[in-house]
Parts: sequence; C-alpha cells; structure tokens
Amino acid sequence: MIPKNCLDRLKEARRIVVFTGAGVSKESGISTFRDAHGLWAKFNPEEVATPAAFQKNPQFVWDWYVERADAIRAAEPNAAHLTIARLSDVVEVTVITQNVDNLHQLAGSRIVHELHGNIFRLKPFVDEDAAFADGKNPIVCHVCNGYADPDTVDSYASKEDIEGLALVAGPVPRCPACGSLFRPGVTWFNEMLDPYVLDAAFNAVDACDALICVGSSLEVQPAAGMPYRALQNDAVVIEVNPEPTGLTERATASLQGSAAEILPKLIQTVWGLK
Ligand code: NAD
Repeated sequence: MIPKNCLDRLKEARRIVVFTGAGVSKESGISTFRDAHGLWAKFNPEEVATPAAFQKNPQFVWDWYVERADAIRAAEPNAAHLTIARLSDVVEVTVITQNVDNLHQLAGSRIVHELHGNIFRLKPFVDEDAAFADGKNPIVCHVCNGYADPDTVDSYASKEDIEGLALVAGPVPRCPACGSLFRPGVTWFNEMLDPYVLDAAFNAVDACDALICVGSSLEVQPAAGMPYRALQNDAVVIEVNPEPTGLTERATASLQGSAAEILPKLIQTVWGLK
C-alpha cells in the first residue's frame, strides 16, 4: 500500500497533521465544491459565497446557507473522521480543515483548526466602507463585535439577547444593539482567513513530522499551500484522494481511493489500530 521507508517514517512520527478538504465529508453525504456534481456545478459562487452577494441580497444568501446547514445537521461523521479522531489516542494529531461542517469535532478530534470557519458560528456582517463613510467614527459593538454607530447603538442590549441565534429558516437576524445583520461564520471568496487560525495552522505544519492530506483538490490558497510547506520541511506527506491533484506526483506516497475506505486501512497498517 505504501513504501516501506514511508511506513517506518510514519510509525516514528511524533506529531501528525491531518489536512482535510470537502472529500473527507463526502461519504457523510455533504457535497464537495469542485467535483462534477459538486456545489459549484449547480451554483455560481459569486451569487452565494461573496461579501458582495450578501450585501446585494442577504436573505437569498442566508436561505442558501440554511439549506446547507440543514443538510450538515443531518450528517454524521463517517469512518474517515472517526479514524482521524482515533489516531489521536496514539500520537499527537492536529487537524487542519477547510471544511465548515463541524464533523471532525463531532467525531472526537480535539485539536481542529478551521481555516474557512464554521457554518454554525454566526458573526456580524461587517461593511467597512459603509461603517466609515462620510467621516463616521464607529465603535466596536458590545454585543456582536461588529461596527456600531455610537449615536444609535442600544447600550441596554446584551450578549444574552443573541445567545439563541442560529442558522435557521426565517428573516436574517440583526444585532439588537447596532442593527448589523448576522451571517454564517464561513470565509467567503474575496475574504481574508482568520490570521490567528492561519498562524496556528502554519505552526502545526512547521512542527509536524508527517502530514496526511485527505480529500482536497488543493485549488484554494492559502490552505492549499500546507502540504507543500510540509514537504519543504522534509515531513512525510501522504495524500488520500480518489482523483489525482497537483500534489499526487510530489507527495511521499499517494493513496488512491475514498477517505472512508483508505484511512482505516492506513491506521491499521501503520499503528495497528482497528
Ligand atoms: P473540492 O471540492 O475542491 O475538492 C474535493 C476533493 O475531494 C477532490 O479532490 C475530490 O477528488 C476529493 N474527493 C471526492 N470524494 C472523496 C472521497 N470519498 N474521499 C476522499 N477524497 C474525495 O474541496 P476542497 O479542496 O476542500 O476545496 C476547498 C473548499 O471547499 C473550501 O473553501 C471549503 O471551505 C469548501 N467546502 C467545504 C465543505 C464542508 O464543510 N464539508 C463542503 C464543500 C466545500
């Protein structure tokens, strides 16, 4: 399955990064983005996954994410998520995921860096241009942490007022203090990644002896750079994907197949785990 020298290096690895993309959740019934039947074959990202789209039609974007969130709520971790969680019983594992579906945490993985956020963690929609337009001098809202107009913010509103908010059908919720609209906590196209999460992920990659890249087309930067960075640092890099990617030829070993089928075999072969 994998070359002997690679097996030995994996066995000896003290710190492992498992880097995942949408493919790891495919067998939980969640669509990927770029496959022939993926989300972007049916929807235009410009219309649902950009700040401009939300600004133009917040209710349309909210409803689209409600549908995705409902599908994700109905999903369960599959054998791949469970195997990754199990691995942390025998070796230090950091999961770096591009997924927003929470399935690694549900499976029991303890250290998970969510590069593209989490669909269920709502946050205020921040429009910096509007907030600072016409010489306005906004403050940070004490309830949602978005921008608030100091003249109109309701200082009696409290964080408790937004505790029950969730990504469910209905009008897009607003912050009771400043009026900001709430949005899903994912990273959209044309947005920066959370610098703290990115930093933590780079640190984990720089410290790892081995990186297992599972179910990512490696098309989205800066996330896609992680396996290559590990290779540059002389870590063992194993890819698990049914389709070839830009990494396939460069990885220490490439295992072709579905994550839920390959990962359980891999941890049994290398670490004797069932
Ligand atoms: P992608 O759609 O670009 O690529 C998916 C990859 O998974 C492909 O290389 C495909 O060959 C592979 N794959 C398909 N079935 C697989 C299986 N059973 N086992 C293993 N691999 C399989 O997804 P990506 O690379 O993660 O792209 C990044 C973007 O996708 C991110 O922005 C991320 O936020 C987003 N995304 C997340 C979810 C989720 O949270 N579950 C779902 C869709 C997209």
